Amino acid sequence: MHIAEIKIEDVWLEISIEKALKLSNKYLMRCAGCQGRVHANKPYSDGAAAQFSHAQAHSGCKLSLYHFEPPASRHPNPVS
Ligand SMILES: [Zn+2]
Repeated sequence: MHIAEIKIEDVWLEISIEKALKLSNKYLMRCAGCQGRVHANKPYSDGAAAQFSHAQAHSGCKLSLYHFEPPASRHPNPVS
């Protein structure tokens, strides 16, 4: 996914992967779909694009392209 949420002064704001990669990793970021924690990943040398990935995979997340299994549900360890 290319959009996530970042916590700045107790407010969750939408952030793109391009911006997230420029920030220090002291900021907390979560998935806009399931609210599980995510990491910002740089592009891989094999051509894979920069993207956010769940710190802990969650098959109930509709934004999880390869692992989603309906029905959608909240992450078991949501970040708030
Ligand atoms: Zn998610």
